[in-house]
Amino acid sequence: MAKVSKPKLTRSQRARNLFNAGVRPVRTADGWLVMSSSGKEFYDVTETGGCLYCNCPDSVFRSHQGELCYHAQLVELCLGFDRMVCADDVDAPIVVF
Ligand SMILES: [Zn+2]
Repeated sequence: MAKVSKPKLTRSQRARNLFNAGVRPVRTADGWLVMSSSGKEFYDVTETGGCLYCNCPDSVFRSHQGELCYHAQLVELCLGFDRMVCADDVDAPIVVF
């Protein structure tokens, strides 16, 4: 279990909040541009071999935890992907919406 000092939204809750707020990924030539929950930044989400990758710090530094960051999860929500688990994340918990 991760240490949590105070109640914190999960990544899937953040993605759902953005989705409910009407935030949608913007299609680009390479993937999608997703606004952060602060509304100040945008991150690039790309798909490679059925897996989504994001260039945000959460994804870059914590992707080994096997959970997609909320930007990638928002893309999933909007595209109707069931779930995506990368081949090197077979032990990862499955995110269920
Ligand atoms: Zn991200």
